[in-house]
Amino acid sequence: MNEYDVVVVGKGNAALCAALAARDEGARVAVLEAAPLDEAGGNSRFAGGAMRITYNDVNDLRRLLDITDEEATNTDWDTNTVDEFFDDMFRVTAYRTDSELCEILVRQSLETMVWLRSKGVRFTPFYGSTSQVVGGRRRFFGRNPVAVSGGGEGLVQALDAAAVKARLEVFYETRAVSLIYDGARVSGVRTLLRGVPTEFHARSVVLACGGFEANPEWRTKYLGPGWELAKVRGTRFNMGEGLKMALDIGACPHGNWSGRHTTPWERHAPEFGDVTLMNSWYRHSFPLSVMINAEGRRFVDEGADFYNYTYAVYGEAVLKQPGQFAWQIFDGKSKQYMRSEYQDRRATKVSAATLEELADKLEGVNATQFLATMREYNAAVKRGVPYNPAVRDGACTEGLALPKSNWAVVYDTPPFEAYNTTCGITFTFGGLRTEPASGQVLDLTMRPIPGLYTAGEMLGGLYYFNYGSGTGLVSGAVFGKLAGTAAAKAAVASR
Ligand SMILES: Cc1cc2nc3c(=O)[nH]c(=O)nc-3n(C[C@H](O)[C@H](O)[C@H](O)COP(=O)(O)OP(=O)(O)OC[C@H]3O[C@@H](n4cnc5c(N)ncnc54)[C@H](O)[C@@H]3O)c2cc1C
Repeated sequence: MNEYDVVVVGKGNAALCAALAARDEGARVAVLEAAPLDEAGGNSRFAGGAMRITYNDVNDLRRLLDITDEEATNTDWDTNTVDEFFDDMFRVTAYRTDSELCEILVRQSLETMVWLRSKGVRFTPFYGSTSQVVGGRRRFFGRNPVAVSGGGEGLVQALDAAAVKARLEVFYETRAVSLIYDGARVSGVRTLLRGVPTEFHARSVVLACGGFEANPEWRTKYLGPGWELAKVRGTRFNMGEGLKMALDIGACPHGNWSGRHTTPWERHAPEFGDVTLMNSWYRHSFPLSVMINAEGRRFVDEGADFYNYTYAVYGEAVLKQPGQFAWQIFDGKSKQYMRSEYQDRRATKVSAATLEELADKLEGVNATQFLATMREYNAAVKRGVPYNPAVRDGACTEGLALPKSNWAVVYDTPPFEAYNTTCGITFTFGGLRTEPASGQVLDLTMRPIPGLYTAGEMLGGLYYFNYGSGTGLVSGAVFGKLAGTAAAKAAVASR
């Protein structure tokens, strides 16, 4: 018989944080992972590693980062004060974020990262993605200068090492299918362990097994028609099963069930993420580009803000275009500022010495309209504003019905390059309602369900419409730790 204090379903960041926190409370913990060992780790393993924390200055960052005095002094580190973090969360979610959850996220982000560091997780400045060197000085932008070392893969490796040290019992190829529930309390999980029905009994269960982003049927049902056509950026295992299990026993749904995080993504990327090709498909330099659809027209303000605040909705914008694709077009002046993934040999890329030559190479695009769009765009670029990708430079267009608000340059410098993109879905926003400080799941009448906790992508209410980069991993850690602690305390008390 498999008897534990706490069973954690999933083995991504939220699950492992919950399991380690539960172990800290002296609980006997089992971790159930649907994936085999070589694919384990969920979306967390695919993450670029950005972690958005509250910090007032570089001294707060030095609690996480090993940086020299020279690096500390010669870099503009930006800030993300409590007020700035709140403002960003409220702004990007159109003031819909659950204020209690948001408050916990903002106020506990730094201390939770310090706790993760004590578990062996290492952090590094996020130089490649959220800083630029302009005029000889490095400057961070987007309030997100911290990443976990080695990205999501590094995070999961460090958490795995901590799990071994803490003697967590991990079961791979163990897919949870339903909760053991007698109408009063949850007392375990029914699973298929390598296809064999197996029960795990526990005083507390923490569900941290992701959203439904990998499930085309659920995407079509909750996000709408056409969403089955998105490419999945991460794991193929997040099929919404944890949500289904909880809803089946009367858990209360919460949050933006038709909402999702999506980004521009290499058009010919595989259907799901591939752990051997983690970063090949990112196309996050779009603020420096002009994006063109099959009709040869622009369809968003590419430079509305730093990518940190727009990338999570511009994937959807691409999905809505005819044929679900768009080309990102760059002028030679932007080349030095583009992210390294654009150099990947798997990129669907064309280049040319003139825009006319490029027009003939843009597969699927109305060339005549493309050239007309570029002529109109070039004529509208405001002259004399210095181009600076490290700040919102105000280098904009004037007089266009659809403006470009920053980083607009006249396309006159070859080589002209174009990259073909589609929509990649990262995760879904709909989740479960919880008692915020403990992660205990509430039922349809808003009463806590004894024995059931959740965290990570399964937590509903934090994100609506949009998302600021780096909050997914931090949310998983903050609420995973809280849920694991509460689940263990309840379990140990009822022994
Ligand atoms: C390409 C990509 C890049 C990203 N970059 C960033 C970033 O830089 N910063 C950031 O903050 N966020 C980023 N994210 C988002 C972030 O990684 C995720 O939202 C977060 O890691 C989710 O953590 P989680 O623990 O809730 O879920 P996951 O890490 O997805 O873990 C879910 C786990 O549950 C398991 N599972 C699923 N169903 C079952 C079942 N029935 N039984 C048992 N186990 C099951 C899965 O196998 C997996 O182990 C990125 C995501 C992707 C895909």
